[in-house]
Amino acid sequence: MSGGEVRTADAVIIGAGVIGSAVALELSRRGFRTVSVDKAPAAGYGSTSSSSAVVRAHYSSRDGVVMAYEGFAYWAEWEDYLAVTDERGLAKYVGCGSVLLKSDDGLWPKALAHYRELGVEHEEWDTATLAARVPYYDLGRFGPPSRPDQDAFWQEPDGELEGALYTPGSGYMSDPQLATHNLQRAAEVAGAEFVFRRTVTEIRHGERIEGVTLDDGTRIHSPVVVNVAGPHSARVNALAGLTGTMRISTRPLRHEVHVVGAPEGVDMATEGIHTADGDLGIYFRPEGGNTIMVGSEDPPCDPREWVDDPEDLNRGLTRAHWETQVYRLARRIPGLRIPPDMRGVADLYDVSDDWIPVYDQTDLPGFYVAIGSSGNQFKNAPVAGHVLAELVTACEAGLDHDRDRLQLKMPHTGLQLDVGFFSRNREINEGSSFSVNG
Ligand SMILES: Cc1cc2nc3c(=O)[nH]c(=O)nc-3n(C[C@H](O)[C@H](O)[C@H](O)COP(=O)(O)OP(=O)(O)OC[C@H]3O[C@@H](n4cnc5c(N)ncnc54)[C@H](O)[C@@H]3O)c2cc1C
Repeated sequence: MSGGEVRTADAVIIGAGVIGSAVALELSRRGFRTVSVDKAPAAGYGSTSSSSAVVRAHYSSRDGVVMAYEGFAYWAEWEDYLAVTDERGLAKYVGCGSVLLKSDDGLWPKALAHYRELGVEHEEWDTATLAARVPYYDLGRFGPPSRPDQDAFWQEPDGELEGALYTPGSGYMSDPQLATHNLQRAAEVAGAEFVFRRTVTEIRHGERIEGVTLDDGTRIHSPVVVNVAGPHSARVNALAGLTGTMRISTRPLRHEVHVVGAPEGVDMATEGIHTADGDLGIYFRPEGGNTIMVGSEDPPCDPREWVDDPEDLNRGLTRAHWETQVYRLARRIPGLRIPPDMRGVADLYDVSDDWIPVYDQTDLPGFYVAIGSSGNQFKNAPVAGHVLAELVTACEAGLDHDRDRLQLKMPHTGLQLDVGFFSRNREINEGSSFSVNG
């Protein structure tokens, strides 16, 4: 594509992160001639590149669990789903399982009720089972979460945790950027086109969407445009003149994830389990080189770093974040090897008002959104691709999804998903965790 050119497409997708690339794949497999535009040099170079890529089923809401559980099959059967070779190889699914510790944050009873209703394979572990399965954990109750500069942080634990919920189907993807490149290659086989190093600077519309203009003057006429711009989602909605038209808004939030060494004698490749630790306000999972990756569960005691301009992200790690997160992990895993140098990443979540994504049509016919992924939608990317492709197909065929909410039967689990749950105009979901747990 060269500057000043005029092109046509059936659908333009703004953003080639893991969700945008999955949308491109699913739409192109349904016969849409798609063009994905990304200002980055390659697929998955936005916030996806920093993702911890954890795949687990626990969410506060039923539809959240339905989506995540459906996602298990895509990752576990990644090669079959893509049906493509990638010159860079395929990302691998590491099925390490997941434990959701029984903390006082109120999440595990909701997750357990959803697992029972929906048939998500799980085991309830008591304290003794937990101690046998992860002997290198200190099972003390340290919560509610506090910070190392507070006295409460250093107090002795108040007894022991009650146990945990274990889901054997959980795990993580080895390389989120490579997984996104895999999706790009599969989409291209289905006819999709990807344009990199080009920014969408204008969204043209009258009563309905007409197309987009890129920073080199290229105009792409298209009856469908999908905003999958990650932390830039609010800016892209503004380009479409949609600011203030949705009840749920999105904005970028900075987060850090850190990497430290496993305890002496513990092999994370065989003994590591992804762990959601609401008692300390962290999640962690095994990482390559016998290390552990630790991120935040957004406990109320931690200040939130909202970022006005997503271009203005400070990617440097900060000592205060690092100490808070790594010291929390050290309480759970006493033998942790803490290196003197900080290792990890800093990037942006695109957070919605209730930390639940927005997968929806908009007030501008032909313009769709897959936004507000709130630090928890990597795992759902292929499912979101399916959902958006079904939504676009149905709405372009005349469905008014605002009035008559699209219901989808998930291809792998057979469970019913109420797509309207992810509406841009929902009431803020007060049952949400208001954290990365969605
Ligand atoms: C630190 C961190 C850890 C996370 N851990 C997990 C996890 O363990 N499990 C999980 O499920 N989720 C996790 N997430 C969330 C998950 O990674 C995101 O939900 C997901 O990657 C979002 O994908 P996306 O395609 O929507 O956005 P992005 O990957 O951000 O892609 C958006 C793309 O849009 C492009 N773009 C924006 N504006 C324009 C424009 N005007 N023109 C052209 N291109 C544009 C950008 O360049 C970018 O490439 C994490 C996120 C972060 C930041």
